[in-house]
Amino acid sequence: MITTEQLYQHYLNHPVISTDTRKIAPGSLFFALKGDKFDANTFSEQAVAAGAAYAVIDNPAYQLNDRCIVVADVLIALQDLARHHRRQLTIPVIGLTGTNGKTTTKELINAVVSQQFNTLATQGNLNNHIGVPLTVLSINASHQMAVIEMGANHVKEIELLSSIAQPTHGLITNVGKAHLEGFGSIEGVKIAKGELYDFLATSGGVAFINSNNPLLMEMYGKRKFATPAIFYGDAIEDLISGEITENAPLLSLEWTNNTSGESHAVKTQLTGAYNLDNILAAISLGVYFKLSAAQVNAGIKGYQPKNNRSQIVRTQNNTLICDYYNANPSSMIVAIENVGKITADKKVLILGDMFEMGAEAASEHTAVMQKALETAVDERIFIGQEFSKAPQLLKSGTFQGTATTYATTDEAIEGLRSHNINGATILIKGSRGMAMERLVELF
Ligand code: ATP
Ligand code: MG
Repeated sequence: MITTEQLYQHYLNHPVISTDTRKIAPGSLFFALKGDKFDANTFSEQAVAAGAAYAVIDNPAYQLNDRCIVVADVLIALQDLARHHRRQLTIPVIGLTGTNGKTTTKELINAVVSQQFNTLATQGNLNNHIGVPLTVLSINASHQMAVIEMGANHVKEIELLSSIAQPTHGLITNVGKAHLEGFGSIEGVKIAKGELYDFLATSGGVAFINSNNPLLMEMYGKRKFATPAIFYGDAIEDLISGEITENAPLLSLEWTNNTSGESHAVKTQLTGAYNLDNILAAISLGVYFKLSAAQVNAGIKGYQPKNNRSQIVRTQNNTLICDYYNANPSSMIVAIENVGKITADKKVLILGDMFEMGAEAASEHTAVMQKALETAVDERIFIGQEFSKAPQLLKSGTFQGTATTYATTDEAIEGLRSHNINGATILIKGSRGMAMERLVELF
């Protein structure tokens, strides 16, 4: 059977990887991965016919010609190949994980460091056991830096992804409640995300740590880092610090390079006070890698959020905060708090159920509802089976404004069709499965 080194020789001649027979790049290496529904071994002939140089398979029954390379396990071969490729590279690799804000922070870091370096960053959200090796394998000799997002919903995943991406620099955006079905509890989340700190601590990598985040500081304190960590936040001892100067609902901020003492103002295209942390992370990396303040600000200012991650949409009647890419208790709470803080005449919350909450579903939906009732807004609309289970809260009469519940997104669309909302800033947020984007046309 072929060794990783031999497979690497093929990769050097054919450095593009394909995994989908509908999108075969000519002359690429096709990796026949197994999905829930498909075993791509069965597509190997098709892949070669479509232009792949070789198909890497793990079922010898499909070895139809010398274009098929048999390995013991295609996924492991892909991961080993990426790890091997990574070892040949000498560029800085910035790895990041966390419960919320990974993609946003990755994009912001990329926007900043790209002002100076030819950078390869994770495409979209390709942050798992397949996406990370594919990202690593897309780094080529022209790249001077890489920014790699690593996601996890089980312990040991970040350990594996770190062993592949081998970050020289890294950060955890935050640790909060998400994927509790897989992690069990917030303690499980801390262990799982902490695997990135473990890797950096023992390999001599540089951790970038948000000094305002007590959980991250606690996790930092439990490890011995071979290389000193870099801090960002709002303390003068930090490499950089910064604060929001306007949130209406786009953020403006002022940040200070604490080494030079110089302060700089920047207007962003992001909403959400929580995005301050994401922005400061990107600024700290820019400053660390010696970009000028003008370059850092150009990166931050130019970044526009995509795919309904805290995206502002102005309709004829209202300003929508489209944040329905995903939702979990931590991101819900900060999104609601943000609406509490923004400058707007009229405020509305439209919140959909959070999925994958396991045994904590009832208590977490109750907590989010409580937060929404405490926050000074004019209207609250709760949608979903879980939110519908907590009606006793709504009867208490201790909150100002209104609160309505719908069991499903369909019922909400029906109910809200005749309900005009004008001149409001409206947060729309819920788990992907709630398809909250369907509500947008109503406002
Ligand atoms: P995924 O786990 O799907 O990869 P992610 O960690 O990459 O998610 P983003 O896609 O950047 O996160 O953002 C998703 C949502 O998380 C945003 O729309 C926003 O609601 C929320 N969010 C972003 N940054 C933060 C943060 N620092 N703290 C809390 N919530 C955040
Ligand atoms: Mg992401």
